Amino acid sequence: MLRKLLVCALVWASAAPQALASDYNLQLALWRQVSFPLDNFLAISSHFGWRKPVGASLKRSKASEFHSGLDLAAPMGSYIRAWADGRIQKVGYDNRCGWHIVTTSAEWTSTYCHISAVAVQEGQLVQAGQVVAAVGSTGRSTGPHLHWTLRYQAKLVDPELVLQAMQLAWQGQSAPPVLPSQDVPEPVQADRSAELPEI
Ligand SMILES: [Zn+2]
Repeated sequence: MLRKLLVCALVWASAAPQALASDYNLQLALWRQVSFPLDNFLAISSHFGWRKPVGASLKRSKASEFHSGLDLAAPMGSYIRAWADGRIQKVGYDNRCGWHIVTTSAEWTSTYCHISAVAVQEGQLVQAGQVVAAVGSTGRSTGPHLHWTLRYQAKLVDPELVLQAMQLAWQGQSAPPVLPSQDVPEPVQADRSAELPEI
């Protein structure tokens, strides 16, 4: 019995790190192929995750809201570039995201919100770095910026962690593995079209 347990433990111990290493190597390979998604980048104007509601007065404290992506400020009309090789899954409009594009790349899904112009059509294949749209302020937005949402296997990932890992990989350094966020409220995770903040 003890020997059986020991064998099981050994098998697990040898299999688990290999699985992680394989995912990690896949990520490292991906980081070297992808592109920064924006020209004329000025600043991060809002981080991914929990934040105070936009426009909330200091007197009236409202509950925090979850920001599903990363806001990258850039001048109106700046080019937005496909983050990775993939396919244009959707070009659409909704009240919060404004005009937007959704691209898929293997198990990754990328959404680019608030755009002012579109350079691609649904179903089109794109390469990393290809111009797909232009920065705007359509939908729920207070100024020109790219709101970039990133999902891996349908789970939200913090795009800022991906940008940091890309930078390290481009410098030939090792980067920590990027995992989906554990702190996402269920409605945000489950329903992409719900009335949720997308500024
Ligand atoms: Zn945003």
